[in-house]
Amino acid sequence: MDLQRRLDELDLPRFQERVSHLGWEVRTKHFVVVGATRRRDAVRTAQIMATAWEDVGALADQWTDLHRRETFGVGAVSVWVVDGARRSREPAPGRGKGPEPADTIFVDLSDGWGSIEDRVIQLRAKTVDAFFRVSQQEQTLPRWVRTGLAAYIAGEQPASRQVQRLEPPRPGAGSRDRAQAALWVRYLLEADDARRAPRFFEAMAAAGVVALIEPAFWLGQPRTFVGTYVDYLSTIVGWERFRAGQFGIRHYCTVGLNPKEANNEELAEGVMAWLPRFALKEGVVAIGEIGYDEQTALEDRYFRLQLELAKELALPVMIHTPHRDKKRGTTRSMDVCEEMGVDPAMVVIDHNNEETVAETLQRGFWAGFSIYPSTKMGNARMVELLKQYGGERIIVDSACDWGISDCLGVPKTAKLALDSGVPEAVVRKACYANALAVYGKSGQISEADWLNPSAIDQRTLYEGNTILRGGREPRIETPGERRAGSLLIE
Ligand SMILES: [Zn+2]
Repeated sequence: MDLQRRLDELDLPRFQERVSHLGWEVRTKHFVVVGATRRRDAVRTAQIMATAWEDVGALADQWTDLHRRETFGVGAVSVWVVDGARRSREPAPGRGKGPEPADTIFVDLSDGWGSIEDRVIQLRAKTVDAFFRVSQQEQTLPRWVRTGLAAYIAGEQPASRQVQRLEPPRPGAGSRDRAQAALWVRYLLEADDARRAPRFFEAMAAAGVVALIEPAFWLGQPRTFVGTYVDYLSTIVGWERFRAGQFGIRHYCTVGLNPKEANNEELAEGVMAWLPRFALKEGVVAIGEIGYDEQTALEDRYFRLQLELAKELALPVMIHTPHRDKKRGTTRSMDVCEEMGVDPAMVVIDHNNEETVAETLQRGFWAGFSIYPSTKMGNARMVELLKQYGGERIIVDSACDWGISDCLGVPKTAKLALDSGVPEAVVRKACYANALAVYGKSGQISEADWLNPSAIDQRTLYEGNTILRGGREPRIETPGERRAGSLLIE
């Protein structure tokens, strides 16, 4: 099927209407509004929401351009205009069982709830919420910023006596109170001091992740065939890269045989035979994660073989340090690097903690810290380390793996550090520039990749596959609202 034609018909409808068994269906670029009541309700709802979408888009121009991509959020939001009677007779899809899908909005016009015209403010606010969900900014923007902006764009007016008492938000403060959040946003955008708005937008843009490096690692269960491992490597150099690009994020990876699986000799031998081919692919910035888990003889063998490979290909190395017997394992990893003649300036020792960092830095290696809830390193501890050691050769990274992990560990730590008085230059090094410096030695990653990006086109296919599901963006739920609103990773 001709892709352009299919997109035009299904995904980029002009203002379209039709009648179905569900009622009047009005489609705009971003909304599918189904009016189970009257045509007028559906059309008016679509108008109100399309306008609010434009308004939030105009404001969002100040900190992002993701929403200006041609295919951004096409058909992403479903809206049901229902009345109580209709709902009890025929519940709309997605309603009733389990949580309501994020991209579905219900407008209930049953008695006592008024008409669409009484809902303009509410609909506009819901549109802004949907905009943040679809653009995945609900995960990067603090909760009060999102609520405040929604209230601001919706036109919710704070009481006049509140406006007189406008106060700037305290650094790092969060508020679950809608009126307070609305006041803060109003203050930042409209207060006499004209410097405030740009700083506000800058902070929001800074919450965005521009690039990520995905290391090859253990998946939570050992792979038993060489082919499985090879397919995995293909995934991280191929599909993962494509997928991240579709969301405006540059993707890089490291390839390697992780220490746990190095203990399966047959698998390890097979993977080693394939590794050089993957190591030379575009976007591969290091050999890793390699190193020790239980510190066995086989782990030692494949660690050394991979260090040899890294040296041969002049690639940086990313080393996983063991969770058990960490201090000894970390020291030993560095000993072996030195023994093999690998330049410490090419090596990131990852999963450091308070006990290992001094030695890692003193011996000239890069010290990575994996921000990870509950184990390894929480971000409050990380902030203390930044205060103590500064930003030289320190790299803050985060997990996004098989366990409970927080993929926003880096921006959250950066924010917490800034709020805690760590100098911006230190934060910038530890959360951005250092990783770029060491992995940049591969010649495969540079700032220009995201400063001058090619345009996102979600119509692009990867080996015939797309990230789109029926034209919608998948919701990625952040477990636990409390955690989502908090900057702390304990
Ligand atoms: Zn690891």
